Amino acid sequence: MIISDFFDFLYPDCCCGCNKHLGRSEKIICTDCFLQLPLTFFEKKHLNPVSNELFARVPIKEACAAFHFVKEGTLRKMLHLLKYCGNKNIGIFLGRQLGKILANSGNYKTVDCIVPVPINEKKRKFRGYNQSEIIAMGICEYLPRPLVCDVLIKPATSESQTKKSRYERYENLLDGFTCCKSTLASLENKHVLLVDDVITTGATVESCVKELLNIRGVSVSVAAVASSVLS
Ligand SMILES: [Zn+2]
Repeated sequence: MIISDFFDFLYPDCCCGCNKHLGRSEKIICTDCFLQLPLTFFEKKHLNPVSNELFARVPIKEACAAFHFVKEGTLRKMLHLLKYCGNKNIGIFLGRQLGKILANSGNYKTVDCIVPVPINEKKRKFRGYNQSEIIAMGICEYLPRPLVCDVLIKPATSESQTKKSRYERYENLLDGFTCCKSTLASLENKHVLLVDDVITTGATVESCVKELLNIRGVSVSVAAVASSVLS
């Protein structure tokens, strides 16, 4: 403790929003930047822009995102640092915020287990982790449920996605996930919380939900750190 205090004094952490040195009680982000993060409050409403978008496509129970995904700003920077710069602590931090929100909302009490949206093995090896899994670990601290990471699988795509049209990419996503046959029995009759980092078109989540709903007796809710789905 004393040694870590000494290192904090020598190398104080900086806020990932404004680069100001963090105070003793601050982690990852300073209080000013934290208070400016754009909360959605979607978790309080069964019908909200994210759930409405998904209800039209798949039969889920609940869906929400903690924050609005805006083009500029601290949250975008945080998600970028998590996804592309190896900053797992940011993922845990954002997961905790989402976990607090879900635990307080009351709409997610019946969730039995948490399943992160998978990434393919090639990406995982390159990045070293799946960002949605890290977020899910943060959620579990406030919504303590088993984390199930070996049921949904994202196979590697053969062709580069960037060469395809937007519609082809969407179609490809819809076929892009499978369930691991040897472990899917563990989800039978469970209420699964599917976790993603950002919901934009909703195609990824839609594809995962469709796959999960093939498991007997499963029901699915969805939670993301951020969403760009507008009302
Ligand atoms: Zn700041």
